[in-house]
Amino acid sequence: MTFRFYPIKIALATSLVLATVVSSAEQVKMTSSEITDFHQSLVTLDSHVDIPRDYMRLPVFDPSNNTSLKVDFNKMKKGGLDAVFHIVYVAQKKRDKAGYAAAYKAAMKKFEALHMMEKQYAEQIAIAYSTKDVKRIIAEGKLVSIIGVENGFPLAKDINRVDEFYKLGARYLGLTHTGHNDICDSSGTKPEYGDKLEEHGGVSEFGKDVINRMNQLGMMVDVSHASDKCVKQVLQISKAPIIASHSGVQSMLNHSRNLNDNLIKAIAKKKGVIQLVAYSGFIKSDPKRNLAYKSLKAKVAERYKSTKFDYKHHEYTPEYARGFMQLNLDYPLATVKQYIDQIEYAIKIAGIDHVGISSDFDGGGELFDWKDGSETENVTRELLSRGHSKTDIQKIWAGNLLRVWSDVEQFAKK
Ligand SMILES: [Zn+2]
Repeated sequence: MTFRFYPIKIALATSLVLATVVSSAEQVKMTSSEITDFHQSLVTLDSHVDIPRDYMRLPVFDPSNNTSLKVDFNKMKKGGLDAVFHIVYVAQKKRDKAGYAAAYKAAMKKFEALHMMEKQYAEQIAIAYSTKDVKRIIAEGKLVSIIGVENGFPLAKDINRVDEFYKLGARYLGLTHTGHNDICDSSGTKPEYGDKLEEHGGVSEFGKDVINRMNQLGMMVDVSHASDKCVKQVLQISKAPIIASHSGVQSMLNHSRNLNDNLIKAIAKKKGVIQLVAYSGFIKSDPKRNLAYKSLKAKVAERYKSTKFDYKHHEYTPEYARGFMQLNLDYPLATVKQYIDQIEYAIKIAGIDHVGISSDFDGGGELFDWKDGSETENVTRELLSRGHSKTDIQKIWAGNLLRVWSDVEQFAKK
């Protein structure tokens, strides 16, 4: 698909940051094809899409092919998904010399893969380093990749690496993942590495330096996965607005990865954005599914003679794929309707200018009826069916996140 059939997308793209789009009072009944046309005319941005360790290095992880990945070029085109933050994610491991070295190496491998992707498929996709780039690349009719980092562990207490990651294209950094690191406390601990409930009581001194440097460079600070205290302190430390790149609503499902109302309101008050995540486990409680999932992982690990399931080695095996399909039949995932319930709740308490969309595809995110990038239109359909205006839907899909990014860029120029 090229975008030339949707000239409005270009108009939207050029006006996105100002968030002034088509007129808003169109609650008339739309036909199915009108909805498709409207969806295609939007600029859609998903703020969290993971990539596997061997992205671009194996044909099965080459996004120009029809892959089993939830996001590849064809799925993006089919689903009218224009822009994604591709994530340089590194799991939290032991913080010793070998651990830091391995984490840095793993991060570099993912940065390299994304640059390889851009170089090899320059006709189809380009990396955006600025909000201006996003608009330009969309106007050129290409898909947009933006780089986000998940977990500051690979910084290894070296502040210069913030600059290094920025130069490699990182435009947000999620301070932490599951397990405390040298920057701040996580919302989830890793007892195998000696984690207590708290290590720093929020943000460490090194963490403050990291946040300040990110502000100076124009890199968004991402608090998804951080502890509540960490989020509160980041709101004080950061001089620029912040984001939660993939988080849920705690008052709708009590999970440590979800944000409570006060934090959601505080992020909005600081002119930031909460990108609600399409991760079933943060939307719908299903203890039976959790148990069945645990047993599936144990079975796959056993099949590969491992003591423990390891996403790195087991996630893309045929046994896991088959088992996961069955799991989804036995215990259905949360639906787009339930996901939009969280979005609407967040809008109610944070305001329409502070809510956005993230899938966490290829990192565990998936809904019953938003299984991969090709089904992205379903989100727009549900928003329309609930009477959200076209202007508001554009804000939710990309306008809000791009506005925050633009504010962060402006702050860095000061
Ligand atoms: Zn995550």
